[in-house]
Amino acid sequence: MADIAVLSEPGRVFLARHSAQPFEPMTATLALIQGIWAVDPKMARKILRTRIYATESSTLLAEGTIRVAAKRWNAGTSHSEIEKLLEEARTRGSELVDVTGSGKQARESAHIEFSPKAPGTDSDWMTQLRDRLDAVPIDPLLPRFERSRAVAAALVLPDDTGTDETGWAVALNQNVSNRTLHAEMILIENWWRRQGCKLPAKTRLFVTLQCCRMCAAAVLHVCENPGDIEVIYGEPDPGPMAAQTMLQKYGRELPYLK
Ligand SMILES: [Zn+2]
Repeated sequence: MADIAVLSEPGRVFLARHSAQPFEPMTATLALIQGIWAVDPKMARKILRTRIYATESSTLLAEGTIRVAAKRWNAGTSHSEIEKLLEEARTRGSELVDVTGSGKQARESAHIEFSPKAPGTDSDWMTQLRDRLDAVPIDPLLPRFERSRAVAAALVLPDDTGTDETGWAVALNQNVSNRTLHAEMILIENWWRRQGCKLPAKTRLFVTLQCCRMCAAAVLHVCENPGDIEVIYGEPDPGPMAAQTMLQKYGRELPYLK
């Protein structure tokens, strides 16, 4: 049975369903949050202060997503409890909004560039990514702490992946329109959608800013072993979102040294 995540606010109940495959960087909770941003970007931040109930068991990926893009969460809620919650909402006359498809559409339309050739050294990578930071869409009208951050990331596959992938892809932060669409998430989601399997060992992820908790968890989620992917970041992030991430604890996250 597919997992379901639900958020009930006055007048509206949002829900998303998802059956995750092994290593798939997606959960019902992430689908719900992504979907709410897709259908109501103006109110999403406020809506997501409300508690989310989900049937899925707690995973690092879902926890990371909650830390970055929502507030309160009850994982492991039974299907019958969720049904009861939906029934109560229907009785109150609330509108039922299934955002499963909207979230999917948002992540699948996130912009990404593929290229057949890797730029070469770590320094070439970082220079390439930093050169693209001006292209990151930000919202100058928002207060500083709520603005999208200029972040670019590149996923570099080892030469012997045995897939028909082109070798590397670059993505920019797009969280001005959807708080879950960080550059690293876009890359990892794209990999999964194109290949449907874990990332090959010796994959490298270059990113201009240290990974947040959601992206760090997503990186580990698509790896068989925490050491399979090396993450090289350009700048440390001293903020709370990048504090004590799973990548720092268990993975291979290295500062870029000129
Ligand atoms: Zn992130």
